Amino acid sequence: MAPDGFVYYSRMCFSCPAFGPTACMMTSSPWSARRAFLLAAGAGAATPVLAQVDVGAASSLRKLVSAPALEQAAARQYQQMLSEAQARRVLVSRSHPSLQRLHAIARRLMVYAAPWNERARQWRWEVSLIDSAQINAFCMPGGKIVFYTGILEQLRLSDDEAAMVMGHEMAHALREHARERLAKTQGTHLALRLGAQLLGLGDLGQAAASFGGQLLTLKYGRSDESEADLVGLELAARGGFEPAAAVSLWRKMGQATGRQSGGPAFLSTHPTGPARIRELTQNLPKVQGLYEAARRGKAPTG
Ligand SMILES: [Zn+2]
Repeated sequence: MAPDGFVYYSRMCFSCPAFGPTACMMTSSPWSARRAFLLAAGAGAATPVLAQVDVGAASSLRKLVSAPALEQAAARQYQQMLSEAQARRVLVSRSHPSLQRLHAIARRLMVYAAPWNERARQWRWEVSLIDSAQINAFCMPGGKIVFYTGILEQLRLSDDEAAMVMGHEMAHALREHARERLAKTQGTHLALRLGAQLLGLGDLGQAAASFGGQLLTLKYGRSDESEADLVGLELAARGGFEPAAAVSLWRKMGQATGRQSGGPAFLSTHPTGPARIRELTQNLPKVQGLYEAARRGKAPTG
């Protein structure tokens, strides 16, 4: 703790030790369906065999870019952002209830991440909270999740709705949308200019590093957004969060559009509208059973 009483260290790492007890829950009988889901996972950013939503295969173009190089660049960018937030005293304390709440949500979602991307088994998931009025949240390649207090407070998100935001952002990382974007903008150029033999860690590491700053402000295409909505919806449902919250979340987003202060952030990169809400609504029945099974399998609290 700093002399002024402000706890600067707010990150929480979800690597193996903290992960253990949660993973153990999957070996008990109510969780057998989930274990089957996990076991059915394919390699890379594949669609799990038992997935309920239909998003097809991830773009093969992304393979032009080294995933480890991009994840390393993202980790550096994340650390730099945390350092800056710490210096400006806007990095929310790990003990703060809002960050604790986000950690609890993250734990319930990330156990279902690996079937969507084998690499996620090695990711060091982290969740940070920045004190800012901006409505914003993102997950960088490799599982570095950031929420701004503005999205929680201005939209008055319920746990279910916050889980939908988190699931959506985790899905962007799991489906490697940033890697795909980088491949489209820089990987292809490198391949043409330098030849395929140079598509190794060094050159693409450099490309990924130069791309680093953009990782925080990426604007994805409509199909990527649709994928993130559906994969996020399924992650959240498996985690025991009510699917209908996806619809109420995007209605709130729609209402907030136009009255956002301090920069457009999330809302400018996530246009909401009837099509988005309609697609989510159509997919609710597909994941409702997962949600209900998760609720039944959950140990009673209180
Ligand atoms: Zn998105």
